[in-house]
Amino acid sequence: MLRRAVFFFLALATLAALIEGQQQRAKRTRGSSRTHERRARHKPAKPPVASFVTDSGGRELIVRLLDIGQGDATYIRNGSSRVIIDGGPDTVAFGRYLDSLNLNNSTIDVVILSHQHLDHYGGLQELFKTTRHIRVRSFFENKDPSAAVTLAELRDSILSRMDRDSLIYRDTDDPCSNGRPICTIAMTGGAKLHIMAPFPSGDGANNRSTAVKLIGPDSASFTMWLAGDAEREEIGWFETAGYARNPGMRVNVLKADHHGSCNGVTPRYLALTDPQWVVASLGTGNGYGHMHTQAKKIYRGARVPWYRTDQNGTITIRTPGTVGGGFTITPEHAGTSLDGPSDRVSHQPGCATGAR
Ligand SMILES: [Zn+2]
Repeated sequence: MLRRAVFFFLALATLAALIEGQQQRAKRTRGSSRTHERRARHKPAKPPVASFVTDSGGRELIVRLLDIGQGDATYIRNGSSRVIIDGGPDTVAFGRYLDSLNLNNSTIDVVILSHQHLDHYGGLQELFKTTRHIRVRSFFENKDPSAAVTLAELRDSILSRMDRDSLIYRDTDDPCSNGRPICTIAMTGGAKLHIMAPFPSGDGANNRSTAVKLIGPDSASFTMWLAGDAEREEIGWFETAGYARNPGMRVNVLKADHHGSCNGVTPRYLALTDPQWVVASLGTGNGYGHMHTQAKKIYRGARVPWYRTDQNGTITIRTPGTVGGGFTITPEHAGTSLDGPSDRVSHQPGCATGAR
């Protein structure tokens, strides 16, 4: 009799739990559909891409050239290591990517500011917003003097995290604090990052850009070169500095220097980097005329196709990290070698004659 009563009670409790579970699931579904409705009504200009949340550990290396507007922002993931190079022009756009990349409550191992222009550092302040609970282990920048208030604010945030959170603040002119021009960072999935000292006497902020070479876990499968907004002056200096020999400039993918400006590429630079693909980060309808007609002429002359964030959206590169695994490059919006509505011939000195 007692056993039957216990059994009856257990059956009843199970049924109640099942019903409650169903009700909660239904509530969650209703809740999320209400959230979707809310999001649909207040839809951001560029909604986050849901597939970003699949970035997860292992040997796979994922590089995302984010569609950040007129600026640069790159997110790199390998194993449990996370790297950000530049944060685009503003905190709103960059913050949206921090959300969609699931980076709140996480640790970013390395942040690199390529150089001191707002379209590269503007969004980085968002990393230090206390409500995001993001820990930054190390921050690299050239520390050149600057009158920009927003850069001073960013530097204040970095300094306060040095005190509070043991952040390591490195000067790209001596990136490993050992007097050597190249600092190599190992990511946990086997990828490597070479951070190179910029042209010491580069004229203007662009020519003080730090070059970074990313090497996949299988170096024969994937390498990439990113050099901020380096112009012809610094691009030529990279070779003088010996970077073509060490760490080597030949790569699979080249990020177009200076948003596809004509002063961000030379035939010699393309010969040295010898990329299969170029990726350019620039804003729709930008006022600079990027991508410049002359730059596209040089890329076309070398038979290198390109993707561009203003036309293709975020560009994602993946390599599995296995021997011979190769790499894939996938734009958010299809179409290759696209021209954009803002593209113009530049009349600045050194570019007027186009490909030389
Ligand atoms: Zn720029």
